[in-house]
Amino acid sequence: MNAFRNRIGRISAAIAVLVAAVCAGSICAGAEPGKPAHGYGYDDTPLLPGSPWRVHDRKRPQPPMVAPGEQPGAPPADAVVLFDGRDLSQWEGGTGKGIEDGSIDILKAGQIQTKQEFGDCQLHVEWATPAAADGDAMNWGNSGVFLMGQFEVQIIESHASRIYADGITAAIYGQSPPLVNASRKPGQWQTFDIVFTAPRFAGGKLVRPAYLTVFHNGVLVQYHKAVLGATMHKMLPAYQPDRSKGPIMLQKHGSTVKFRNLWVRPLKLDDQ
Ligand code: MG
Repeated sequence: MNAFRNRIGRISAAIAVLVAAVCAGSICAGAEPGKPAHGYGYDDTPLLPGSPWRVHDRKRPQPPMVAPGEQPGAPPADAVVLFDGRDLSQWEGGTGKGIEDGSIDILKAGQIQTKQEFGDCQLHVEWATPAAADGDAMNWGNSGVFLMGQFEVQIIESHASRIYADGITAAIYGQSPPLVNASRKPGQWQTFDIVFTAPRFAGGKLVRPAYLTVFHNGVLVQYHKAVLGATMHKMLPAYQPDRSKGPIMLQKHGSTVKFRNLWVRPLKLDDQ
C-alpha cells in the first residue's frame, strides 16, 4: 500500500514539474492563483493603444478584491446597501412609513430618494406589482426607478396588461422600449440590474449623454442606450446642464408597488 502511495506521490510531483515548465512560457503567465502580481508580466512588450500599459505589463495594478454576495442578488462587499428590509435610513422624503414584511410599500412610504447622490453606478432593485389590478393599465403597478432623480427606468404591470411601448416596464420612459418584455406575472418579485453612466458636460454643454444598460429578471433589455435627457410624460426630454450626480428616486404613482433588496455600487470607470 505504501509503495502504491509513493508511486502516486512521484507521479504527482512529476506532473507538477511538467505544469510548471509549461507555465513558465507566456501561455500561463499570471494564471497561477495566490502568487504576487509582480512575479509575472513583462517590461518589453508593446504599449496598448491609448493606454500607458504594455501587453501583460508587470507594473499594471491589480483590481481590488471584492467579495460577491453569498446568494445571487445579495449585495457584494463594496455596495452601498440602500434597503436591507429594515429601515429607510438611507432615504429622505416620503412619510417614513410603509415597511412591511421586509419590503417597502411605495404607496404608503410615498416618493422617496436617497440622501446620497450617485453618478456612474451599478444598481440592483427588486420589486413587485400588485397581484390584482388596482386601477387601469396606466396605474396598475406604476412606479419607477429614477437615476440622478431624472432618468426613469419604468416599472408598471406589463405581463397582464400593456400601455404604450415606451412606457412599459424597463422602458427608458417616453424614449426607448426594452429590447424584449421579460415581465413576470403580477405579484411576483422581479429584478432590475442597471448600469448607468452619468452625462458629461463641459462649459455647460453636453459632451456625452447618459447611458443605460438594464437587465430585467436577468434578461438584457437595454444595451448601452443613450438617454436623450430627463424622462418626461408627453414631452420631449431635455438635459439639465452640469449635473453629473443625483439621488436615486423611487416613484410613487397610485399603486401598491413593493421594493426590497436595494443596493448600489458607485463606479470609477475611467481606466487611467
Ligand atoms: Mg412610472
